[in-house]
Order: sequence, then C-alpha cells, then structure tokens
Amino acid sequence: MKRDIHLVILLLLVIGCSLASLTLWKVVASRDRVLEEADVHGLNLTQALATYSEGIVRQSSLLLLGLVERLETEGSGPAQIQRLSTLVSRQQPLMPQLSGVTIYDNQGRWLMSSNPMAPAGANSSDRAYFIHHRDSPAREPFIGPPIRSRSNQEWVITISRRFNDVHGAFAGVVAVTLGVENFLRLFGKIDVGQEGAIGLSYTDGTLLVRYPFREQDMGRNFSQSPIFAKYLVDQSVGTASFTSSLDGVERLYAFRKSDKLPLVTTVALGKHEALVGWRQEAMLSIGVVTSLLGLIGIIGWLLILHIRRRINVESELLVTQQQLLSSNRQLEMLAMKDALTGLANRRCFDETLAIEARRAQRNGLSLALLMIDIDYFKLYNDSLGHVAGDACLQKVGKVLEECIRRPSDLVARYGGEEMVVVMPNTDSAGAAVVARRIQDRLSQENIPHQTSPWGRVSVSIGIATATGSELDQLQGLIEAADQALYNAKSAGRNRTASQYCA
Ligand code: GH3
Ligand code: MG
Ligand code: MG
Repeated sequence: MKRDIHLVILLLLVIGCSLASLTLWKVVASRDRVLEEADVHGLNLTQALATYSEGIVRQSSLLLLGLVERLETEGSGPAQIQRLSTLVSRQQPLMPQLSGVTIYDNQGRWLMSSNPMAPAGANSSDRAYFIHHRDSPAREPFIGPPIRSRSNQEWVITISRRFNDVHGAFAGVVAVTLGVENFLRLFGKIDVGQEGAIGLSYTDGTLLVRYPFREQDMGRNFSQSPIFAKYLVDQSVGTASFTSSLDGVERLYAFRKSDKLPLVTTVALGKHEALVGWRQEAMLSIGVVTSLLGLIGIIGWLLILHIRRRINVESELLVTQQQLLSSNRQLEMLAMKDALTGLANRRCFDETLAIEARRAQRNGLSLALLMIDIDYFKLYNDSLGHVAGDACLQKVGKVLEECIRRPSDLVARYGGEEMVVVMPNTDSAGAAVVARRIQDRLSQENIPHQTSPWGRVSVSIGIATATGSELDQLQGLIEAADQALYNAKSAGRNRTASQYCA
C-alpha cells in the first residue's frame, strides 16, 4: 500500500517533469525561432536597402563621370558651364533622389549649381570632399560625410569626382548631393517597430543616414560600436544582438557591407518588441500547463488521500484480526487448561498423549505415563473441607510441575484428585526417577493430613511405559498405568508401582 503511494508520487513527478520540460523546451525553441525569423527578416531588408542605396550611388557616379568627361575635354569656361547647366537641368528630373549638382573650380569656388538658391560667391574649399580630391589624384568617386547644404540648409550626402586640366593638374570638383530626406522617406515606409532603426554608414563607421532621424547622430563615427569593431572585421554580412550604447535598448542587428562600394547597411529591431508575440504565447502556454499541472496535482493528492484512507482501514482491520487471533489463542489455551490447578486439562492430555504416541511409534522411541492419585483424599476433604481440598490439589499440582524438567513433558489433571504425567522418549527407569522425585518433593512439602497414616499428603503413582509398535493400542498404556496405580494402592499407598504395557 505504501508502495502504491510511492508509485502515485512517482507517476505525478514523471508527468509533472515531462510536461514542464516539454513546455520549457517548446517555449525556448519558439523564442529561438522568432529570433531567427527576425534575423532573416533583417537580412532581407538590408539586402533590399543596400541594393537601393548602391543604385543611387551608381547613378550619381555615372552622372558625375559624364560631367567630368565634358569638363576635361571641353574645359570649364562660362560657355561650357552654361551648356553643362542646361544638361544637368534636363537630367535632374530623371533622378528624383538627386538634391543638386555643383561644379567647383580648383579654389573651391562655385562655377555652377543646379540649385536656384545657390549663395552668391560661395566657396566650398573647406568641405571634406573638396580637400580629398584636391589632395588625392585618385579619379574614383568619393562619398563624403553628411553635411548641411549651403544652398538650402538640408542634410545631404555628397558623391563627388575630381576633374583635371589639360596638364593633368587638379582643376576642380563635381559633386552630387543626395538629400538625406529622400532616404528617410523610403526608410520610414519600412516597419521596424518603435525601437527599430535603419542606418546607412560609410565602412569607417561614419553614419550617413539613420532612421529615425536624430540630428546629433549625423556624421557621427560609430567605428567603436560592436558591428564595426567586432563583426565587420571578418564578415561582410551577418546578424548580432547587443545593447545600443546610444539609448540602452537591446536590439537585433542585421548588417551588410556592400561588395563594391564602401557602404554598410544596418537594420535593427528592438529585441523586446520582436519578442512581444512570443512572450504572450509563452505566457499562455505556461498558464495552461500550470493549471493542468495543478489539476493533475489535485487529482494525485485525492488519490493519495484515498489510498491513505484504505491503508488506515486495512491496518485497523489487521489490528482487529490480530486481537481476534490472540483472543482465540487465549480461548484455546483456556480450553486446554484446568481451571482449578492451572495444569493441562483432560482434553489436552488426550490430544498430547495421542500425538506423542504417534511420534514414538514413528521413531521407535519409548513413551512413559505416570498416573498419580492422592491417598486418602476423601478423608482430607471430610476433615478439612472442600475448599482446603481444592487448595491441596493446587499445591500437589505445583509440586508435580516443579518435578518436570523437560519441555516435552506434560502434567495434566486426569480427573478428580488424579493427575498424569506424559513423558516422551522416556523408559521405565527414567519414569521411576521422576516418580521418586515427586514422592520426595511431596514429602519435603509436608502438607498436613491428620487422617492419613503419614500425617501428611502423599500420593500413589502408577508407571506404564511402551515402545514403538506397542503403542498401537493407546488405551493399553492408560490401562497399564491405571493397573500400576491400583497395585500401588493395594500395596499400601504412598508408593510407586510399574506396569509394562503388554
Ligand atoms: P484412595 O485414593 O487412597 O484409595 O482414597 P481416596 O479417599 O482418595 O479415595 P477416592 O479416590 O475414591 O476419593 C476421591 C475423592 O477426592 C472423592 C472426592 O471427594 C475428592 N475429590 C475429587 N475431586 C475433587 C475436587 O476437585 N476437589 C476436592 N476438594 N475434592 C475432590
Ligand atoms: Mg481417586
Ligand atoms: Mg485418592
């Protein structure tokens, strides 16, 4: 029964642990899947945005290449500049991202600007792109850091090329400005949530455009951020998750470095935001499983209570059964005992004698029987009364019990003042020793009996012994003992006589 409770507890534990671990595994796996999906989503977005940005830069480079070609072959005189201005004003509507095209001479003075708000006498010799082209003979286009346009105060990114004079010396710079606003308009159409961000940077970490727009970030260098300092060192495409040093928000970043251009596109999604759906689903799963576990626990508890109740009832039944058994044993013992002397009664004697006789027959051993009768007991009763007679019987019974040493021997009250001793595995000599001991002990006891010739209570003893098959007729043994007793009485009492069972 206790085992049943242990089994129920074990079953509950197994069910509980399995359910809990399965749910935990499912919740963790679905979190990983959501994060993986966010990474894939981010990487796809960087691919699309990188393609867009590269396209604009390439178009601008082509436009610049055409203008540089003309400036170098036709020169940069007023007539040529005028023709170029007309050409640019025709091309510009074809490129809506284009904010303006400006041509500078080798001193940084503005030779031409497509912007009608161009400041008169403006000079851009202090701009990074101008300094770069003036000091470097490289002919490749240069993507400059974001700056505020001097013509319309907008934030712009510049893409510029250098043009040379006929001698190959630096003659000036042609620059295309791309309005940051145009990029932001496109980036704003992409849903990256409240905590998300999209960025376009130069490979050295200089931020060109960031959505959502923050004035203070424009042109800022992020080379120390994990993406540039750690991830882009040995990979050009990838994902990462870390807490932004700008606003302390943990984000999932996807980044992609352009193959041909020095540009890096990053898409960041707020990790907390990305996991909102998962969190709700996880809470629901955990809630359902917890209620289920609670229900299983209650059912299990009820089952354990039921088993406990059954155990209690069964143990009570067991106690009652034990009590009944012991009462039965007591009753049985009482049924085998003589009420007055406490010796075995006649029934017990009959059964014991039968058992011992069979045993002696089987084993070929001898069995001895003493039949003892108190001498002149009628007179004792007559002189001292029946109550004293009963007390005398008890004393004699006690003396007999004291004279018996082997556990297999039995003293019983045969009837009236006659008593018997059954002695298994005892021959007539051994029986005579016991009879002698009884006579001696009784003599020592010296129970007064005034009307007896010896002045004390004495007994006559008849001994009968039989061996093996002589015990076939058990009655013969009893009769022999009875005969021996009769002989002892006839011979004068207070003595022992033997009779061999024939
Ligand atoms: P003897 O055996 O020496 O020949 O003489 P006796 O006087 O003992 O003779 P008998 O065996 O005939 O008498 C038995 C007496 O024992 C009769 C009865 O009064 C007495 N007696 C038998 N059973 C009990 C008993 O349970 N209590 C008492 N007090 N006396 C008993
Ligand atoms: Mg008698
Ligand atoms: Mg007698």
